[in-house]
Amino acid sequence: MVMAALTLSPLLNDEDQGSAALVVEPEMEIARGEGRLPLQIEVAEKLVYLVEVDVGPFKGVSVGEAVFKSEQEGSSEVEAGAFEAAFEASHLGYKLDHRLVSRHASGEEPVLESSDTQRGSENRRRRLRIGERGGVWTSEYRYDGHCTGCDNKDHFVHPRLPWNKHEHCKKCKSGEHRVWREMKSRAVPAHTLDFLSVIYLIRSLVDSEVLRVEEPLIEKNRLWTVSMEVSGGRAVAVPLGEFECSRVLLDATKPESEPDGGEFGGLFGMQGTLKLWVHTATGVLVQIEGEIPVGPMDLGVKIRLKEAEGTPKGFGVIAR
Ligand SMILES: [Zn+2]
Ligand SMILES: [Zn+2]
Repeated sequence: MVMAALTLSPLLNDEDQGSAALVVEPEMEIARGEGRLPLQIEVAEKLVYLVEVDVGPFKGVSVGEAVFKSEQEGSSEVEAGAFEAAFEASHLGYKLDHRLVSRHASGEEPVLESSDTQRGSENRRRRLRIGERGGVWTSEYRYDGHCTGCDNKDHFVHPRLPWNKHEHCKKCKSGEHRVWREMKSRAVPAHTLDFLSVIYLIRSLVDSEVLRVEEPLIEKNRLWTVSMEVSGGRAVAVPLGEFECSRVLLDATKPESEPDGGEFGGLFGMQGTLKLWVHTATGVLVQIEGEIPVGPMDLGVKIRLKEAEGTPKGFGVIAR
């Protein structure tokens, strides 16, 4: 099915083609076990969003762009595909390039491989692998941190005063000075997801009769229960046009088995309840409203759709 979809994809993008040969489901479904919503992955989808923040009295200040992509892999043995979300921003000398990648495979381990990479003014890397190890669902988490001391001369800083020693850098924001920490592994519920994948799971949610689901979610090495609830809807206007949308509220709570402490860090560091507006017929994300804590205050953030390619059939603006 994958190969067929890939072969036909150039035709699918051509609106003049309407022949019977094109009756192919363009999305791949990754099953997640009995009673769980599957993940839908498009052949080659690209969504571009404007990222706006409210800074004091200034509402909707544009700070950058977020690009979300879905892609299927052309392997015949394994059904696999990936989601990618990148957020690039530059504001008042602060540069951010934040990239999330979640690769899903069925019939191959790991089932989910996810990375979270931040570059720019600050640098860090996180990696997650989730799958079954000897009958137990396990997550393996690795992250990097500033090197605490080694012999690599590249990590040494020039002395500020001529009589100071040439010594290992204590702490800085350079990505080159960061090293991988020891991997942490733990048991997780079957088919635990990462945050980016949860956003795409909404497509199956709006496809189903269900209005609310809870899913296990892993963030770094911490387990959460994320709830997704479809509640209401309306037309939402974004730069790409006006879309008929459903509102999906996303919230994370800590399971009782988890130790106390630590705030949940959602997409691109957003906290608290996330309000997502998704296209009612297809579940394509049209707008996100959330908050990012910056110092003592919360910054209101809006991510609004401005370009779309390779979206599922049925996605479109409200007819006029
Ligand atoms: Zn070092
Ligand atoms: Zn350093």
